[in-house]
Amino acid sequence: MKAHDGMYIDGAWRPAAGRDTIAVVNPADEQVIAEVPAGGAEDVDAAVRAARAALPAWAATAPAERAARIAALRDVLVARKDEIAETVTAELGAPLPFSQAVHAGVPILVAGSYAELAASYAFEEKVGNSTVYAEPVGVVGAITPWNYPLHQIVAKVAPALAAGCTIVLKPAEDTPLTAQLFAEAVHEAGVPAGVFNLVTGLGPVAGQALAEHEGVDLVSFTGSTAVGRKTGATAGAAVKRVALELGGKSANVILPSADLAKAVGVGVANVMGNSGQTCSAWTRMLVHTSQYDEAVALAAEAAAKYGDRIGPLVNAKQHARVRGYIEKGVAQGARLVAGGPEAPREQGYFVSPTVFADVTPEMTIAQEEIFGPVVSLIRYEDEDDALRIANGTVYGLAGAVWAGDEAEAVAFARRMDTGQVDINGGRFNPLAPFGGYKQSGVGRELGSHGLAEYLQTKSLQF
Ligand code: NAD
Repeated sequence: MKAHDGMYIDGAWRPAAGRDTIAVVNPADEQVIAEVPAGGAEDVDAAVRAARAALPAWAATAPAERAARIAALRDVLVARKDEIAETVTAELGAPLPFSQAVHAGVPILVAGSYAELAASYAFEEKVGNSTVYAEPVGVVGAITPWNYPLHQIVAKVAPALAAGCTIVLKPAEDTPLTAQLFAEAVHEAGVPAGVFNLVTGLGPVAGQALAEHEGVDLVSFTGSTAVGRKTGATAGAAVKRVALELGGKSANVILPSADLAKAVGVGVANVMGNSGQTCSAWTRMLVHTSQYDEAVALAAEAAAKYGDRIGPLVNAKQHARVRGYIEKGVAQGARLVAGGPEAPREQGYFVSPTVFADVTPEMTIAQEEIFGPVVSLIRYEDEDDALRIANGTVYGLAGAVWAGDEAEAVAFARRMDTGQVDINGGRFNPLAPFGGYKQSGVGRELGSHGLAEYLQTKSLQF
């Protein structure tokens, strides 16, 4: 695979300060496909300086000009979507059709939405005798994970550009090639030098240097709750703004009046997509006791149908971790009805689509984020019981409710402590705010709420 051996800083690819590299591995066959530089504090410093130098001019551009650059970026992503999909498949392992539809497709939608929002957003409003201006926060340090490598970059960079901020991106070490392609796209789109900068590197080295850098005004982090907590503390200690998109353990609540077969089928598919590596996946399926056995049979059947169509997990560490969780589920008394801890292939980090029945809410597999193709069916007695179970984790990122009557589902969803709920299989909306309640995070991404994260207000009184 094609890789740059430098950092994209101030509009050009520049050699890294040090000589360390990161090997990029294809998780489907465990072969090294490329190497990228592992940047350090010096590279981060150069990138932040470039972003700061570019800030005054970019912040002063008319929103229509920023909208035009984001639209151009969207067009490059469209033109290069096959290359993007192939790159994501090579370094993340997602099956190519999924990479085409989701990993390449969704960022195009999101970039398009911010091209429109940049042009239409009210950056100035009258409030009584005041004029309130929404001004860019400044230099953004963006730290992203590997599971939706391009989406998570675009969900930060597009609104930051729309707001008039400049950016330094530190992408996940497992998926740097997608990030390098994105930097090429930004360049092709004619975004001025220094407005967007890329430093590849390890989290505890380059990521930490970025979060700590005094030239960064906002740290926008997506990743695990453990690292998010640390990053948030670092940013908070320096009185920097911070946005955290963290883990999840979402509930798929199937009320007795729902279409059970559909709810179970869509629910299993939701978890298996991207090999279960989705923060908002509905990994706990809550079923009324009267329908429980039927739901278990349907879920086992749905998972078995997935068979070989599921991609590998991203790396050896996640492979061991997810299989460890499955072993723990068995050890704690849950009943395996599909899949299991054995690796289904000799090569590649594959895990079989796995379904657990007889899961109780306090089990580890019902509390902790597994981040693999594992769904747990939990029994409930009545609606209050279902609500208690649904809300009974430290997370609150997403969820689903199914009912015969939409109003019944909405009434339940309104009682859930979570940031986003799909009603009877509702469709993805790139303008709907996405983000967590409780330990799933702070702040929102996407749409106008996502744009607001990159703005600060100034009031002038008359
Ligand atoms: P991670 O927390 O290990 O890494 C995320 C990013 O943080 C990477 O770029 C990594 O290099 C960097 N990092 C690691 N240590 C750091 C440090 N000490 N200082 C600064 N940066 C550091 O997470 P991951 O394993 O890459 O991704 C999976 C996690 O991301 C899951 O928990 C998942 O739920 C979460 N996630 C959340 C959302 C959301 O929107 N809420 C979306 C996708 C993924």
